[in-house]
Amino acid sequence: MSVTHALEAGHSMFEGLLRQDPELAEILLAERRRQSTTLQLIAAENFTSPAVLAALGSPLANKYAEGYPGARHHGGCEIVDVAERLAVERAQALFGAEHANVQSHSGSSAVLAAYAALLRPGDTVLALGLPYGGHLTHGSPANFSGRWFDFVGYGVDAETGLVDHDQVRTLARTHRPKAIVCGSIAYPRHLDHAFFRDVADEVGAYLIADAAHPIGLVAGGAAPSPVPYADIVCATTHKVLRGPRGGMILCGSELAERVDRAVFPFTQGGAQMHTIAAKAVAFGEASTPAFAAYAHQVVANARTLAAHLAAEGFVVTTGGTDTHLLTVDPAPLGVDGRAARGRLAAAGIVLDCCALPHADARGLRLGTAALTTQGMGEREMRTVATLLAEVLRGATDPAAARDNVRDLTAEFPPYPG
Ligand SMILES: *Cc1c(COP(=O)(O)O)cnc(C)c1O
Repeated sequence: MSVTHALEAGHSMFEGLLRQDPELAEILLAERRRQSTTLQLIAAENFTSPAVLAALGSPLANKYAEGYPGARHHGGCEIVDVAERLAVERAQALFGAEHANVQSHSGSSAVLAAYAALLRPGDTVLALGLPYGGHLTHGSPANFSGRWFDFVGYGVDAETGLVDHDQVRTLARTHRPKAIVCGSIAYPRHLDHAFFRDVADEVGAYLIADAAHPIGLVAGGAAPSPVPYADIVCATTHKVLRGPRGGMILCGSELAERVDRAVFPFTQGGAQMHTIAAKAVAFGEASTPAFAAYAHQVVANARTLAAHLAAEGFVVTTGGTDTHLLTVDPAPLGVDGRAARGRLAAAGIVLDCCALPHADARGLRLGTAALTTQGMGEREMRTVATLLAEVLRGATDPAAARDNVRDLTAEFPPYPG
């Protein structure tokens, strides 16, 4: 859509920008078009609501607010203090946590702050190994975590793909870690938080749950909560939870002060008040029955997608999913994950490659949070599974599949009107 055309069509979201800076406005329009005419199967993505976008684009973006409500290093914070208190109260109520810190700029910043609150450089930490779905912040040598701490990785069982509990307990007894991290970027099943708590207690370790992915399912009652078990829960607000890009930390009141100081002033400066306001909006949305229904539909959709991909010949890790995400090996269709991602991109199907446990080839990671927000259900998941299989098998060429994707997305606009 050209700028003039967009102006005529009255795109209120971008109208001021279109007049002032058409060059940049074109880019925003192109990205919006990309998002609404291709299939977003990236497991970490979602579509935030117009209310969340409105808070993000509000004048709260102008405010400097180092510190916490009632104890800021800047003047003029009396109104943004109310916004942050609201976000904190809503998060505490939504997750049943004694304390919430909503200032983390991202999921990674939340993990950094959790480590800063509990650990000293050189401490040993036990976490899911990166080849099995651990995040960069769980000990990657390219990340601060791998540089400053001594990470030991546990894995998943080669047969079942499930976390190897015996190995977790053995490694904990051998290495006596200061902290155990449970959480993953690609694990499709619920984690057994009670088991991790038990191991942590046995060896005197803290338990950190990195629930960046499933926290939205937890909010909607569609996944078990780590809050009663973990000393600190780290999370993002932009994945299934459907809020603005950002992080948060939940903990008991005994760690509240350490966590707050680890976020500011130890690892961050001024709080982003527009993002915190948007987090408050998202927590409000996530506490509604409509969001609970959404979270359960996300899981139902992921299960249906997994079942139909399996029927099409994909090897589904752990045989299915409990959550919004699944990982598959497309090898039986004659293609590896990396090549598959490229071919699917040409068809307008956007997803990630991922490591596959105990395999050299790359697999594919898919999630249903975004498609479900658009209103797609199990019927559409069957269509998507068939499309994926036909493109990868070479039965449909990507250009033809692209037309099918366009038709499907036209029925489910992420931002109707
Ligand atoms: C997404 C994710 C993060 C990081 O979140 P960012 O906002 O990208 O920094 C950390 N840990 C896990 C398990 C994640 O899935």
